[in-house]
Amino acid sequence: MKRFELERAITENELLLHYQPIVEIPSRRLTGVEALVRWRHPDRGIVSPTEFVPEAEATGLIRRLTFWVLREALLQSNVWRRDGTPLAVAVNLSVENLHDQHFRRFMELTLKVAGGPDLLIMEASAGALARDPEPPVATLELLRDQNIRVAIDDATEDDAHILESLPADIVKVGRGLIRKIGRDHRALEYVHAVVRATRERGISTTAVGVEDQVTWDRLVEIGFVSAQGYFIAPPMPASELAEWRAARV
Ligand code: C2E
Ligand code: MG
Repeated sequence: MKRFELERAITENELLLHYQPIVEIPSRRLTGVEALVRWRHPDRGIVSPTEFVPEAEATGLIRRLTFWVLREALLQSNVWRRDGTPLAVAVNLSVENLHDQHFRRFMELTLKVAGGPDLLIMEASAGALARDPEPPVATLELLRDQNIRVAIDDATEDDAHILESLPADIVKVGRGLIRKIGRDHRALEYVHAVVRATRERGISTTAVGVEDQVTWDRLVEIGFVSAQGYFIAPPMPASELAEWRAARV
């Protein structure tokens, strides 16, 4: 992956967003979506974010990538709002964004254009925050002061200490743990403990990567607030999401 190619992707509109439904447990009511970036590469077809987000973080292009994603997600959110079917949209940030001086200013401008933060969720990786020698706590607090909800993303067994100390509205438990809870007692116990501890602090929980009925049933038992995964729906373009919503009612 060459830097100029990634730069071109951002400026020439080769990026696109897919949206994955997030539903309430146990009602399955749709409460929001996660925006997930893809790259429509002229030769390689659709490229996964796991192949180019690390490169963007390493080369400093992550600022422009995140700004593009935020702008696109907020424009889409405005369309849903205008159509009378408002939906919360979660966007993934990199820790680099949270340390970026321009980020605050950009957020202020973006929120003005977007017409408010009430339907915006910002996700930051638990692992990246745990590895950060100076976690950007003040920036997370600033987001929450502006009524943007903060989600700590992809929590694993290794992140327990950071979950206790960070300001957050939502904790998302990663697919690595969730896929095990149907058969692995220790994983189930750990996840259950996370749900109990976060509930005491008034923090919501989302399970990511729910792929089957057995896992869904466990989530209901241990009191997860919401879920996301192929069992409910995969990430999809906004047009398909509209069809998916229409088919459910
Ligand atoms: P994430 O934030 O943990 O997103 C969830 C990932 O799990 C998505 O992969 C989604 O497609 C996948 N997934 C959801 N449900 C299931 C399931 O039931 N089974 C399986 N096997 N997979 C499931 P995706 O879209 O490839 O994104 C991977 C990661 O790339 C994301 O993980 C996030 O960390 C990063 N990413 C995606 N979009 C952005 C972005 O706009 N900015 C930044 N900085 N990172 C992004
Ligand atoms: Mg995420």
